[in-house]
Formats: sequence, structure tokens, C-alpha cells
Amino acid sequence: MPVSGLPPYDDTNIFARILRGEIPCKKVYEDDFALAFHDIAPQAPTHVLVIPKGPYCSFADFSACASDNEIGGFIRAVGVIAKDLGLEAPGYRLLANMGEHSGQEVPHFHVHLFAGRPLGRMIPG
Ligand code: AMP
Repeated sequence: MPVSGLPPYDDTNIFARILRGEIPCKKVYEDDFALAFHDIAPQAPTHVLVIPKGPYCSFADFSACASDNEIGGFIRAVGVIAKDLGLEAPGYRLLANMGEHSGQEVPHFHVHLFAGRPLGRMIPG
């Protein structure tokens, strides 16, 4: 059950459909805890999305309701993906939108991984 900000998990969301293999993605990594694929509308030379395998609609939901094993596995996967893509030098940015004010569009928790150029201020405007 989500804790705040979004309605209950909707398993028709686009990332749930990608997880079920109903629609394609440009996959870069998969393990028991995470799937990573290229964003369909990249905002940096590298723009990868990392999603947990479980049905969590936001960071708030994931951090409150996922097991320690799921959280640990997911966070380790994000690190492995960034390392394997060669992003540790000169660096990358992680971003997770949560709820209305963040502009979260897809109600399945995801981390954006940006890299490939200087990324500027954290919150433009
Ligand atoms: P957010 O605004 O944080 O919910 O980000 C959702 C992201 O999902 C956006 O950057 C979209 O470009 C991306 N996106 C939406 N549909 C797809 C898709 N089918 N495959 C890959 N990325 C997608």
C-alpha cells in the first residue's frame, strides 16, 4: 500500500508492461531486483532508467514497503549499472521524482541515471 502522494499501484503503467515483456525496451541490465533501460526521450547523452522488479509506485512506497533485501539489491544494481557503463569518471547524476510537485509521470518507482556531459545545476530555473 503506498504511503503518500500517489494512488495505489496501477499494474497497467508503462514500466509494469515493460517488466512483463508486453512492450519492448532498450535493456542495459537485469537481475533479480532491477531492470535498467534507456529512456525513450533522453535528456543527456546517457539517460538510463532503473526500476525495481516489485510493484512500488514511488520512492515513498519503495522506501517504506520494500524489504531490506529488495532495497539493498536495487541500490547495489544502480551502482553496478553506473560502473559497468563507465560513468564513475567523470561522473553521473541520480534523480528520482516522487509525486505531483516533482513531475513524476510514470507511477512505478524509477531512478534516472544521467551522464555524458556536464549536467549543470541540480534544479534549473
Ligand atoms: P518521470 O517523469 O520521473 O516519471 O520519468 C518518466 C520517464 O519515463 C521519462 O523520462 C520518459 O521519457 C520515460 N519513458 C516513458 N515511456 C517510456 C518507455 N516506453 N521507454 C523508456 N522510457 C520511457
